[in-house]
Amino acid sequence: MSDSTVGIGLLLPEVLGTYGDSGNAQVLCKRLQWRGYDAEVVPVTLDSTVPSTLDLYLLGGGEDMAQVLAADFLRNSKELRRAAAAGAPVFGVCAGLQILGTWFRGIDGVDHPGLGLLDIATSAAEERAVAELVVEPELLGAPLTGFENHQGASVRGPGSTPLGRVVRGTGNGDGTEGAVTGHVVGTYLHGPALARNPELADLLLSWVLGHSLKPLELSEVDTLRSERLAARRTR
Ligand code: GLN
Repeated sequence: MSDSTVGIGLLLPEVLGTYGDSGNAQVLCKRLQWRGYDAEVVPVTLDSTVPSTLDLYLLGGGEDMAQVLAADFLRNSKELRRAAAAGAPVFGVCAGLQILGTWFRGIDGVDHPGLGLLDIATSAAEERAVAELVVEPELLGAPLTGFENHQGASVRGPGSTPLGRVVRGTGNGDGTEGAVTGHVVGTYLHGPALARNPELADLLLSWVLGHSLKPLELSEVDTLRSERLAARRTR
């Protein structure tokens, strides 16, 4: 990979890739390429080491046991911490959010330490949240849409702000959704989230590139967004 290529780290897709979340990497890569940048998705698997030189890191959702395995692996990665401390954006979905937080209760009933890159802790909710999720974001103009499927109830501490306020669905469980600390973002939105929410994708890319980006005109994305926003009213 040349120095000018934007490296998109897809962390542990073999265990953190439920509900198509690995598609977030493809979305970011394409959005860069359509704008004339060189970009490459770099999958980081359990048998390798996380490179500290990538420009952005993605974690998807995962089954309960897979999540514990992923957390054990990533907790030991000095490289990921180093990259995040240097300002590389990190975006985690569902299990990814929970791993980026301070701790989460595993299926084994044990509280597992997270990476502490987000100030959010997750215990088990009484009921599983399975629904369309619509969020009024704090950092962006347009509503965020996705679907959720998790048992986590997540409580933020003062070190993170919410990604937004829940309009429909459960999110963190207290009316807020997700967590943001600097360039680290966690959310319960599957979709993949960055396919459904181009503004969020471009926010992450603007942090990588150091400047804001003109929106891309993509009619398929507009159609998908209006369909999903209509779904919040009908179901
Ligand atoms: N296993 C976690 C939970 O149920 C995360 C699920 C997911 O990533 N979809 O809360």
